Amino acid sequence: MPDIAVPTVPFDCPGTTPPWAAMAMARDQAIRQTRDIWLSGNDLPARWQGKAHFSICETGFGAGWRFLTTWAAWRNDPDSSKRLHFISCEAQPYSSTDLAAIHAQLLRQDTELAALAAELLAQWPLPVSGFHRLELDRGRVILTLLLGEPRVWLQKLLGRLNAFFLDSGAFEQGLLKQFTRLAANDATLASPDDGTIGLESISAAGFIGEARQGRLIGRFRGRREQATAPSERHAIVLGAGLAGSAVAERLARRGWRITLLERHASPAQGASGNHAGVYRPVISSDDNLQARLARACFLYGQRRMASLPGLLWRRCGTLQLARDEAEAARFELGARQAIFPPAYLEFVDRDRASRLAGQTVATSGIFFPQGAVIHPPSLVDAQLSAGGSAVYSHFGVEVDRLAHTDGAWQALASDGSVLGQAPVLILANAADAARFAPELGLSSESRYVSYLPQHTAPAIATVICRGAYLTPALAGLACLGSSACSSEAEETTAQTANRGLLGQMLPDSTLPTGDCAPAGRRCSRPNTIDRMPLAGPLADTRQFQPKHAGSLHLAPRRNGLYILGGFGARGLVWSGLMAELLASQIEGEPLPVERELVLAVDPARFLSRHGLGQGHEPE
Ligand SMILES: Cc1cc2nc3c(=O)[nH]c(=O)nc-3n(C[C@H](O)[C@H](O)[C@H](O)COP(=O)(O)OP(=O)(O)OC[C@H]3O[C@@H](n4cnc5c(N)ncnc54)[C@H](O)[C@@H]3O)c2cc1C
Repeated sequence: MPDIAVPTVPFDCPGTTPPWAAMAMARDQAIRQTRDIWLSGNDLPARWQGKAHFSICETGFGAGWRFLTTWAAWRNDPDSSKRLHFISCEAQPYSSTDLAAIHAQLLRQDTELAALAAELLAQWPLPVSGFHRLELDRGRVILTLLLGEPRVWLQKLLGRLNAFFLDSGAFEQGLLKQFTRLAANDATLASPDDGTIGLESISAAGFIGEARQGRLIGRFRGRREQATAPSERHAIVLGAGLAGSAVAERLARRGWRITLLERHASPAQGASGNHAGVYRPVISSDDNLQARLARACFLYGQRRMASLPGLLWRRCGTLQLARDEAEAARFELGARQAIFPPAYLEFVDRDRASRLAGQTVATSGIFFPQGAVIHPPSLVDAQLSAGGSAVYSHFGVEVDRLAHTDGAWQALASDGSVLGQAPVLILANAADAARFAPELGLSSESRYVSYLPQHTAPAIATVICRGAYLTPALAGLACLGSSACSSEAEETTAQTANRGLLGQMLPDSTLPTGDCAPAGRRCSRPNTIDRMPLAGPLADTRQFQPKHAGSLHLAPRRNGLYILGGFGARGLVWSGLMAELLASQIEGEPLPVERELVLAVDPARFLSRHGLGQGHEPE
């Protein structure tokens, strides 16, 4: 459950003045210490030079002085790593308004840091506890904010980190234990401490310590196996829908070459081809795994999509109406607990919901101001364009079989010809992936969504959902859906069923009568048994043993074979962050979501639940 407090300095309290002088001193000290202690004590910039990526961790973000100073040093170094990961915990994050005020006041004289701070502010997350990944400096600087108590949230981080910035006196064993767990073989730490407090603690935690010139430096003395990306950074991605295009773009950004194979003549012809889809998170009264994952994906995805040129979407908010009185009561109770800021979700009574919608709605509900309606094909196109020339697409090719020979995966056509060969292959081919990995239990569910020309559709100002959905018009068409429909012969029935769904959302609205001819689209969504997506390396079903069930991270894998999919009815929400997770796993970078969520989407989870070794192995 969320564990953050929004602080601190009384910026908007009439009659009070923020303690600017003290804050300016703190800024000066933080900037000076970043250069003299945290960077220099960790032997930076030398140690990040020439690397593909380098990861730094600190335990208090505050106004971001350490981060901004490190970012500036990194971008001013012509030999710096290709990517810089900076991981920071903060239990009392500033609101974006307060952070803007602090930066405006305290960075007036520093144009370089002020420019970086402006970029940071543009992406500053809502005060919602959990992981928030921000991509800055054209995606080269990745800030992962862990909003919440450091000792709670660091435990949830997975990755190998190269340097730790410790505050003076921050030698709590619980935190040091996490640093040790996360340390890469070359990891170092630095702290403004003369050794009297910290030397013993860091030695006990597995670092060889040395106190010198008012600073404490430690070098990790352990040796552990480290994930490394293949030397040939080339992947085959199978399928050009939301999943395939998202992971192709994520890997291309990391310098990978992508061979994209798609059976249709153009992208987004499967489930990702609908005219419009709804972008909204999931809520549950116990904040279950699905709700947590959907929240993380929703918040990340909108930042990412805002940076994609050519995306057709409307950030009109999403109104989720209560299904019944019991749900309405739960919504209201949850909102009263004020766990989430109103910029994330807000309980709205029926009157307010109707005003937001611009039409009389059926019930009260929850409003997500950052919800949206999106044209999925434009997201697919935008992602493929962002991948640029690194993504080489082959359309009109059907992959029939996979083979693994001499450390490379081959995608083969039915006549045995090789369509692509690479050390990494990613299944992003929706339910068809079941042919290559039957243990996943993927299924497909065929549905029909109706297209309503703008002049006949109810004029609504926000997306409305209630077991069904109605979108505002996007490029002249609104979408109403969806109903089960397994064949062309059922489309008229499905069209009628969709019209019936309207009344449960907008009781006073009707569609023009008489015309029930299908105008819409039938397609299949790829479902998993637990309605959670799949993102990660596939398990080696023949090697999987009962002992792996409780420790999926130790489960044997099919070297170089990954899956991204099982998106069900939420492809727009899942795809962005799940692609980032998969790309981070492949590249051996710190992961963008907490450990429990990584396990919840691990493709090996089904083996641990439903018997072992039933898999089908490639030739
Ligand atoms: C009616 C309906 C309404 C929906 N509404 C929403 C919504 O409002 N919001 C939301 O978030 N989500 C919605 N979804 C879900 C969303 O559309 C899907 O989750 C998402 O599009 C799945 O993306 P994908 O890339 O995994 O699959 P797809 O888009 O189906 O892409 C898979 C691709 O792989 C290709 N392929 C498959 N096998 C092979 C092979 N052997 N060789 C070569 N190519 C192959 C296919 O041709 C296809 O292009 C809806 C789904 C449906 C069906």
